[in-house]
Amino acid sequence: MKIIAAEFVVGAVGRNDLPGDGLPEVAFSGRSNVGKSSLLNRLSRRRRLARTSSTPGKTQQLNYYRINDAFYLVDLPGYGYVSGGVELRRTLGRLTDTYLGNRPTLRAVVQLVDIRNGPTALDLSMIDWLRQDQRPFLLVFTKVDKLSRNQRNQRFRRLEAEGQLENISYVPFSAVSGEGREDILSWISAETGCQPISPQ
Ligand code: GDP
Repeated sequence: MKIIAAEFVVGAVGRNDLPGDGLPEVAFSGRSNVGKSSLLNRLSRRRRLARTSSTPGKTQQLNYYRINDAFYLVDLPGYGYVSGGVELRRTLGRLTDTYLGNRPTLRAVVQLVDIRNGPTALDLSMIDWLRQDQRPFLLVFTKVDKLSRNQRNQRFRRLEAEGQLENISYVPFSAVSGEGREDILSWISAETGCQPISPQ
């Protein structure tokens, strides 16, 4: 497919705002500032499809992007922008919590973790929840360009030794170089049957 269609559809703040057309959905989850907007822009090859900012924690809405008129990428609000010790469910917000638990058209979740300091305690709660959920999920390690090859290998070796990557599909990703983009799109396509965005 040559034509890339990627358009913002709605920023849902309540259940009534969620699209009712039944198209499959792939949700993107992660703490604020993890690089989610940058990743969505890279995936869709749109510089400004999703807003990137260095001020974390602003959006509390579920942003829907329709891709190739075939499925939605759903940008969940970044969690964890509150001081420590707060439960994941509280920082997710009620709409996101309900959405993840009850949305029939949600086919898969892409969970983002910053390679430098993740998974954080809240990331781990989310991963635990995803492990118990029926839907497929992919762990994406963001900002890998910020580490040297050595540092990166060390990091993955450690996560593997700790058992954090056991039975998990994961992809190292950089919004700067584009590394990992094709792997993420292939995973989405394989797990959901959704037509990937054209690699051009
Ligand atoms: P969001 O809050 O999760 O949507 O995060 P953003 O996409 O807005 O990114 C937060 C900050 O990290 C911005 O300053 C981005 O430029 C930067 N950033 C995001 N992804 C990458 C990456 O892959 N590499 C590098 N070096 N910086 C990144």
